[in-house]
Amino acid sequence: MSDQRIASGLKGVRGALSLDRAQTRELYSLYVNPGLSRILAALGFDRNFVRAKGVFVYDEEGAEYLDFLGGYGSLPLGHNPPEVLEAIEMVKERPTFLQATTSPLQAALAHDLALIAPGDLRHSFFCNSGAESVEAALKLARASTGRQGFVHCSGAFHGKTFGALSVSGREKYKRPFAPLLPGAREIPFGDLDALETELRKGDCAAFIVEPVQGEAGVIIPPAGFLKGARDLTRRYGALLILDEVQTGLGRTGLMFACQHEDVVPDVMCLAKALGGGVMPVGAVITTEEVWDRAYGGLSKALLHTSTFGGGSRACAAALATIQEIVGRDLPRRAAEMGAYFLQGLKRLKEKYPLIRDVRGKGLLIGIEFESSAGSLGDILSFGMLSKATEEYLASLVAGKLLNEYRVITAYTLNNPNVMRLEPPLTIEKSQVDYVLKALDEILEMHRGFFSLARSALKGYKR
Ligand code: PLP
Repeated sequence: MSDQRIASGLKGVRGALSLDRAQTRELYSLYVNPGLSRILAALGFDRNFVRAKGVFVYDEEGAEYLDFLGGYGSLPLGHNPPEVLEAIEMVKERPTFLQATTSPLQAALAHDLALIAPGDLRHSFFCNSGAESVEAALKLARASTGRQGFVHCSGAFHGKTFGALSVSGREKYKRPFAPLLPGAREIPFGDLDALETELRKGDCAAFIVEPVQGEAGVIIPPAGFLKGARDLTRRYGALLILDEVQTGLGRTGLMFACQHEDVVPDVMCLAKALGGGVMPVGAVITTEEVWDRAYGGLSKALLHTSTFGGGSRACAAALATIQEIVGRDLPRRAAEMGAYFLQGLKRLKEKYPLIRDVRGKGLLIGIEFESSAGSLGDILSFGMLSKATEEYLASLVAGKLLNEYRVITAYTLNNPNVMRLEPPLTIEKSQVDYVLKALDEILEMHRGFFSLARSALKGYKR
């Protein structure tokens, strides 16, 4: 193709913004991910959202939706928070990427993170995603301890890069990429005896764990688990890495989830909320001692770097986000709103056998649905029914919420039987009430998998 024809065929930003739903579906299928495109289309999720503000998003027909998925936890202040957009505007004439110097924005962000972080966490490394922050933490642990092994938990989700995947828990996501990082060993989440057995071997650089498991289906560990893990890692010379990518910055009702148990890790991973819903920002923060052993001195200062990490716009977004979360005491708001939400969900659980459990901390909440395992229908279908309910029930409810009530939700990545509710921390009581009422009506009308499936599949053909 000639240069001229290519130039006239390019969509550019204007072309992208003018695509409607059908055109987007076609191009997404052709050029991005056909399988995902089909899944999203089947549930009616492939809408063209053209505007977003706070907890609301709007489709091309002007319909308003409540976003209770919250960018998988990356929208602490909702969509397009003006304070974060203003902060980015304030740095628009600064160089965004200029690695040959020290950046005042990076320096200030590291300072502010150290100020809000628990204990003596001080040195930050900046990157662009949760998985990258986990990679940085794993490398830091090896370089600092001189050991190679890692212990992680069943059900854990730490991201999908090789290192992060190696310490994650769902075989479906791991199998096609084997062999993964050698030396990664799994223990049941919450099992201190199993942790001690692994740590006693003496080759472990770190134990990596989420203080509340998000993608496993919002699982809260038994009381004392984190404290016990802190003691054991210290006793056996391994580092404790807390992955607060999803739980950090107010989500669970305190600034960091480890503060519920007064535990200070050696290394903490952050991302998601740190970018204020506008920029991709990740960070790993550690103590002076761990940093010095890994990267102290001139010869080790460049062992781990990133071209884009710590760019001016990203840092500005993170600085403003932290200021908003602290200034508006959003962790407290998450605690109050989360408790209110959970109370309402527990009432629904009492009413509807289709709900097996509801649980959460702050505004990280999961609804687990019944799986039908062992029911007559399941036996007659040779286990197909329980397999279907486990894979699709939460999605079907999410589909009904979207198509009939204009509420956006999704399931958790390592447990599709659990619907996640992770709205912005700025959510209002009336919005929680609306979602509770919607769930109540859906479950009142559809008391079983087949009724939901029939109705959801009819509903998406909009
Ligand atoms: N760690 C935790 C606890 C997460 O929940 C996630 C993503 O959901 C990640 C790491 C990976 O983050 P990212 O998708 O930004 O790579």
